[in-house]
Amino acid sequence: MEYKIINSNANKNIALVAHDNMKPDLMAWCKKYTNKLANHTLYATGTTGKLLQKETGLPITSLISGPLGGDQQIGALITEQKVDMMVFFWDPLEAQPHDPDVKALLRLAAVWNIPVACNQASADFLITSSLFDESYEKSVPDYNKYIAQRT
Ligand code: PGA
Repeated sequence: MEYKIINSNANKNIALVAHDNMKPDLMAWCKKYTNKLANHTLYATGTTGKLLQKETGLPITSLISGPLGGDQQIGALITEQKVDMMVFFWDPLEAQPHDPDVKALLRLAAVWNIPVACNQASADFLITSSLFDESYEKSVPDYNKYIAQRT
């Protein structure tokens, strides 16, 4: 795979997702960092987004609920380079009906070089990084070269 460098803006598009047992953790984390998150553009799966809007008052674009396709919608946004960072508190202790979608989302985040926090400590590290509020150059797959090589 060939890669190219793109610029991730200081104003980031952040995807927020939490499985049901992890929603209280994500709500608490978003409340703690409401002021920082307010400077960025937020997306979330359906239930997570509605709860976050209620708890923090932050403007959030809510996609469809995860088990009904929301994880896949976030994955699609990643492929369009419309997500710069993801906070995904997935549940390590309970099987999910949409496990294939969860796996697919995590895979696409790895393919597209997206910083992902899977729990409160990793989310703390990401949001307190100096890079959080700065523009950032990162490498992503070069689709034009990829498709040119295959056709
Ligand atoms: P939800 O989806 O925010 O609609 O609960 C999250 C998920 O389970 O992926």
